[in-house]
Amino acid sequence: MSDKWMTELAALTGLTHYPKQGPFAHKDGALIGDRDGYILAIGPATSDRQSRIVLMLRFPEMQQPEGFRELVTQALENAPTFPDSERKAISKMQYGADFFLWQWNYSFGKPKADQVAALVTALVDAAKQVAPKFAGKCEICKSNSASEVLLHNNVPGYYCSGCQEKLRVEGAAADQAYEELPTNLPKGLLFGAIGALIGGIAWGLVAYASNTIFLYGAILIGLMVCWAVFKGIGKINLAGKISAFVLTVASVVFGDAIFYTLAIARQEKLPVSMDLLKQVLANLWEIETSIDGLSSIAFALIGAGIVIYQKRRPKFTPEFQRLGEPST
Ligand SMILES: [Zn+2]
Repeated sequence: MSDKWMTELAALTGLTHYPKQGPFAHKDGALIGDRDGYILAIGPATSDRQSRIVLMLRFPEMQQPEGFRELVTQALENAPTFPDSERKAISKMQYGADFFLWQWNYSFGKPKADQVAALVTALVDAAKQVAPKFAGKCEICKSNSASEVLLHNNVPGYYCSGCQEKLRVEGAAADQAYEELPTNLPKGLLFGAIGALIGGIAWGLVAYASNTIFLYGAILIGLMVCWAVFKGIGKINLAGKISAFVLTVASVVFGDAIFYTLAIARQEKLPVSMDLLKQVLANLWEIETSIDGLSSIAFALIGAGIVIYQKRRPKFTPEFQRLGEPST
């Protein structure tokens, strides 16, 4: 079904279908090719549970003139092929120094291939009025010739072999430099401990005041403690991950201890004292397992995991990939 649609659109646009390749990380791949000196990539994509067809048009990097958006909007509005159904989506078009990106959202079935083809023509016509063309040149050095569209970290472009090598060498050097970044574990532990202390006290007091345990609050603690640890260390490494998880758990458990100390003192009409806190701490495992303590810890670890995922090690060495055999 999807293949038929892609084949139809390929015929209408003169682009080639590359299954499993392209910038949209979709199993159906993308249509990719050169049209009038611009690179186009079109394909299905799904994010935030929204299905869409994404159109990417690439041109060599340029200084954008004042009112660039208006120029493109005007050019699109005047394009005779522009599909009416997408007219109000003009304002949502994204662009950068070397691309336009159009997202055609849909709910029930893909938009008609001829409508998408009309949008492609309109985008190319608009590009002709505002953006330079590749004209067979490498987009980095702009002097060596480059005739084959390559995927650079999955985004199609034109690169001469010299510039590919240069980008690889620079990327590898950046990877090496990241590897050698100094780290400061004591500072990470200090920041993390302060975060854990603040988080634990806030957790205990809020739970006491409201008499409810908010599991989402536990996620916030995980986010805060983990962020503090990495802020102090300077980058994500194994010691940092372990410290972040341990301090996150400690923060929630400490918060629970504060909560139960206060709650028991209120219920039993006892004064709040270190002795009472010690007794609570001595029985903490029993308390944690008898109530929602373990879910709080699980939620806090989710928070820590989110930060670790978002701050995961960046990859600088680029990947160049040739476009594979077209599916016919
Ligand atoms: Zn080059």
